[in-house]
Amino acid sequence: MKVYPTPTDGLRDALRLARGMTHKWAAVDMDFGGGKTVLAVPKMLEGSEREGLFRRLGHVLNALNGSYGTGQDLGTTPEDFTILAEETKWVFMGDASRNFNVDPGPYTALGVFACIKAVTTKLFGSEDLAGRSVLIQGVGGVGRPLAKMLKDAGATITLSDIDQQKANAIAQELGATVVPHEAVPDTPCDILAPCALGATLNKNTIPRLACKAVAGSANNQLETAEDADRLHQRGILYAPDYVVNAGGAIAFGMMHRGQTAEEDIHDRIIAIATSLEEILEYGEQHGESPVYGANRKVEQVLARHKQAGAGV
Ligand code: NAD
Repeated sequence: MKVYPTPTDGLRDALRLARGMTHKWAAVDMDFGGGKTVLAVPKMLEGSEREGLFRRLGHVLNALNGSYGTGQDLGTTPEDFTILAEETKWVFMGDASRNFNVDPGPYTALGVFACIKAVTTKLFGSEDLAGRSVLIQGVGGVGRPLAKMLKDAGATITLSDIDQQKANAIAQELGATVVPHEAVPDTPCDILAPCALGATLNKNTIPRLACKAVAGSANNQLETAEDADRLHQRGILYAPDYVVNAGGAIAFGMMHRGQTAEEDIHDRIIAIATSLEEILEYGEQHGESPVYGANRKVEQVLARHKQAGAGV
């Protein structure tokens, strides 16, 4: 759920996000297809207006009769999904033994954390995060648990959020520093982790970036396809977003299939880092942005599923 200038902007974002979701499932080789819901609102809704919207969304999902299900993401809360689940069963909220309402954020953060270690290995020859600096843009459902994991691993973290008070409170708790959200592109760090909105890597911000690599959870971080080349030309290693942020999807996909053992979910999420290492290696060998290798891998998986008639 997000405020868009016009419904057309929301539709455009929905198409981009749905494509990203297809890529995400294919990148981790889970045959769920891909789709996305966008609630394009004129202002953030509260109270009965908000509840009514989620109830109406439930009816839309029922009309799709199981060909599509949705889970919690940007701008939505576990409370919203409790309401949604009263109207439809086509909602991914974790597994019954955990009383549903599982927050995907920590699972996504675990995948981002593993990928940051893979990126650190590529940059510095060791996955040790002690003394490495990471700037987290957006300390919400993903950014906050990620900050904690990085801190525990000895990284130096800097936080930023459009909600400065929130960033200050988390920074105080973790002993981190805070930079204003407009200063993110110019702030020197080893790794920038975009964990807020999409399209933050673009022709205006990339020339300003003062990081060595980018690895974060935000969907559609590149504003345009050319931005992958812009980052590559600047020598900034870019870990493709849909690979890095697949942790929550993996967890919910596994729970949906009854694979609920926490250890198995953890292992499958950590394995994203192995896929990323291959993608980074491929990019290096071919002298191109890792985005191309990741996209090629996705195309191969989709072609294989189409051939097998899996209906991806
Ligand atoms: P969230 O809404 O919980 O948190 C986003 C945070 O970013 C908020 O604290 C918000 O104040 C902040 N923010 C908004 N605009 C900002 C700006 N311009 N600069 C700095 N901070 C800003 O969302 P989330 O669930 O943490 O997701 C973060 C991103 O990761 C989104 O792009 C989402 O689509 C993506 N993602 C999330 C998950 C998940 O499991 N939640 C999974 C995959 C991808």
